[in-house]
Amino acid sequence: MGDELRIGLGHDTHRIESGGPLRLGGIDIEFDGHLVGHSDADVLLHAITDALLGAAGLGDIGELYPDTDPQNQGRDSADMLGRANQIVSRERWTIVNLDCVVLAERPKILPYRNSIQQRIGKILEIPPERIGLKGKTGEQSGDVGQGRIIQAICNCLLRRPAA
Ligand code: MG
Repeated sequence: MGDELRIGLGHDTHRIESGGPLRLGGIDIEFDGHLVGHSDADVLLHAITDALLGAAGLGDIGELYPDTDPQNQGRDSADMLGRANQIVSRERWTIVNLDCVVLAERPKILPYRNSIQQRIGKILEIPPERIGLKGKTGEQSGDVGQGRIIQAICNCLLRRPAA
């Protein structure tokens, strides 16, 4: 039998408040706003974490890191993603690729794409070419378009050898 393949989907939303920098995709971007949440509110890393866990059938980020736990206050999302990746790897899964969309009116994602891909590749120990990343605006419409929130979506494909 061939390899087993599983697809996962992650989605997340965080609110913007004034004052930078913006932590997104594991890097700090010079910007006049930042995302608010119980952890460091890195919306992209949260979506990726959920996509990974979802593909492997291992629950979600909220189960792994409950926002009722004071230990998760201000937590580095790169650490959360790294640990989720370890859990997924333990079940012999490897990442084929990720494809992500960041929905943000500002800032533009393209100038940071390379740095974010490098950073996520490092966290997940995969080549950055396996990480797709696109930015989309809200066309001035809705909460994204009004600059009140940033959202992220991630698809992830996992593979493991047949047992
Ligand atoms: Mg989140």
